[in-house]
Amino acid sequence: RFITIEGGEGAGKTTLIGLLAQRCEAQGREVVTTREPGGIPIAEAIRAVILDKANTAMDARTEALLYAAARRQHLAEKVMPAIARGAVVICDRFVDSSLAYQGHARGLGFDEVWEINRFATEGCMPDLTLYLDIAPEAGLARIHADADREVNRLDLEGLAFHRRVREGFRQAAERFPERIVTLDASASPDRIADAAWAQVEARLSH
Ligand code: C5P
Ligand code: MG
Repeated sequence: RFITIEGGEGAGKTTLIGLLAQRCEAQGREVVTTREPGGIPIAEAIRAVILDKANTAMDARTEALLYAAARRQHLAEKVMPAIARGAVVICDRFVDSSLAYQGHARGLGFDEVWEINRFATEGCMPDLTLYLDIAPEAGLARIHADADREVNRLDLEGLAFHRRVREGFRQAAERFPERIVTLDASASPDRIADAAWAQVEARLSH
């Protein structure tokens, strides 16, 4: 089983993944939690290039291709083998982040970004995607309240950019209604985890 968690900055993806992993493990399941871009050394190296604050000259298409390249390596090396042996894979971000950030917010177009990701994924798509929807003002406020959090090149984008990201995620949720479930990320972590777990359990039991 393959589950992805999506959302803008400060939506609570990391917290939710921890809570879902605990519940899966309590059922005696093998759980692999991972993140994008990254999750394995080659993809973490690509992540470092994308997010380096010095790389302000990066072209939007270059950025989209690097995300897709990192995604491909992470899928081939870590996600696909884990799914094949029966583990539950829970991944922080996946294709929908590219649709929202590169496709919509950067303006490359949904279909164009979908195309390169079809090549990268060979159709390996999540059984379930939980989209944590939050107003960008609230998400960014959470990030700025967290002094330990490292600020990357994309966190420096303005509010208008993050509003477009949200709109992009909402379009993805409309495009893939059977895969993507939208959750209100302004609720408490426990409430979000309960709502998320109901969706996960339904997918795990068949
Ligand atoms: O750790 P986190 O997932 O929040 O950081 C990754 C960064 O990369 C975020 O700032 C996000 O804006 C950006 N990103 C992106 N396009 C993607 C995935 C992530 O711009 N497809
Ligand atoms: Mg995060």
